[in-house]
Amino acid sequence: DGVVYSEVRRPCRTMILVNPHSGRGQALQLFTGHIQGMLTEASVPYTLVLTEHQNHARELVKKADLSQWDALVIMSGDGLLFEVINGLMDREDWQEAIQTPLGILPGGSGNALAASVHHYSQSPPAWNEELLLSCGFMLCKGLVGSMDLVSIHLASRQRLFSFLSIAWGFVADVDIESEKYRHVGAIRFLMGTLVRLATLRVYQGRLAYLPVKEAPKHPKGSIRSNHPPCTPQHPSLCSSLPCRLIPNASPNLSARHNCNSTNSNHNTITNSSNNAITTKRPETQSDNKTGAPVDSLLPGLDQPVPESWTVVKEEDFVLVLAIYQSHLAEDLWTVPGAMADDGVIHLFYVTAGISRPALLRLFLAMEKGAHLACGCPHLVYEKVRALRLEPITPQGMITVDGEMVEYGPVQAQIHPGLAKLICG
Ligand code: ADP
Ligand code: MG
Repeated sequence: DGVVYSEVRRPCRTMILVNPHSGRGQALQLFTGHIQGMLTEASVPYTLVLTEHQNHARELVKKADLSQWDALVIMSGDGLLFEVINGLMDREDWQEAIQTPLGILPGGSGNALAASVHHYSQSPPAWNEELLLSCGFMLCKGLVGSMDLVSIHLASRQRLFSFLSIAWGFVADVDIESEKYRHVGAIRFLMGTLVRLATLRVYQGRLAYLPVKEAPKHPKGSIRSNHPPCTPQHPSLCSSLPCRLIPNASPNLSARHNCNSTNSNHNTITNSSNNAITTKRPETQSDNKTGAPVDSLLPGLDQPVPESWTVVKEEDFVLVLAIYQSHLAEDLWTVPGAMADDGVIHLFYVTAGISRPALLRLFLAMEKGAHLACGCPHLVYEKVRALRLEPITPQGMITVDGEMVEYGPVQAQIHPGLAKLICG
């Protein structure tokens, strides 16, 4: 639909950001044990950066000379990628910056995107080291597809960009309360779920959304590539940035970034055998060439929602979850049909009155993506393009991509295919 693609050839220089405290605190060991050799063998030159504090990665990518990097890879949980995406979107040149291919290596306790990317590749389910190897392999292959981002507005006028989820109620509480069990790894969510079930409560609020009516492939006025979703059967169609390793380009890695590891293996690594990627970039398209992308579907938070929106009658919820990847965690296959670039916010909510066993059944069924087949009358699923949530319960937690944000009214809209993701 009129999108022009240009071909760029350059070395595949990868910045790998590792949060040494994520998950069980073993991200660096997992990297050196499982990924380093793989990248060396595939001749992928990379620079390792260990994050030193929260928002380190965000600040770093906000200021980085992105012409030096062909991909940014996160070895942590979803929280570190959330930082990186928001750092890129904070930049004046966000339109170009957000085109930087992003990769994920599961090193945290919440590895929803890694599980989703693995799932999109149509591989059988994998956990732990097997999932890590799968994601490492995808990194070596270097196929790049599009990924939707969701723009989120909070009451304080803060604006965030999200690649995974907005949660309120049960799921948000489990997300945050289970952080203290981070040392047990991904099973922290099951533990948190069991604890929260014991103290199950109702959250009051108002929910409204703009349902998806048209085919979600080319929503009018949205920013997206004109490619089908990334599937392994059609790797050549893998969205707008087919990225291939080709020989004879010179990697020129700068050591500008700190690496606080004492082991030289973890420092800047430049492979002598050289690589490049071939990328196709869509022409920059946006309504707004100066500021951040325009949220054309959203009125001000102080304005009523438009007439075209659906207002949910119920105001008593156990949970509200908006998710735009297939997996909420390694073993929670929340949206069976979701793709990274389907242009849809998958909105789930569970209304009050659900019994504890029924709620537990839903979460257990989610491991196999079977929760929607449970016939639970309290579970509602809608495909939407925008939503607004106004909590009435005076205190509580809202998470975005598993990170706690300011509690209060929140609204969001999808931006199809705004980011680029190494997948497939
Ligand atoms: P996990 O899945 O284990 O929660 P995340 O990647 O989500 O791992 O990281 C958890 C939190 O730690 C995020 O809020 C992230 O911003 C923050 N963080 C990143 N690097 C560091 C660091 N070096 N020290 C402390 N916190 C960090
Ligand atoms: Mg996290």
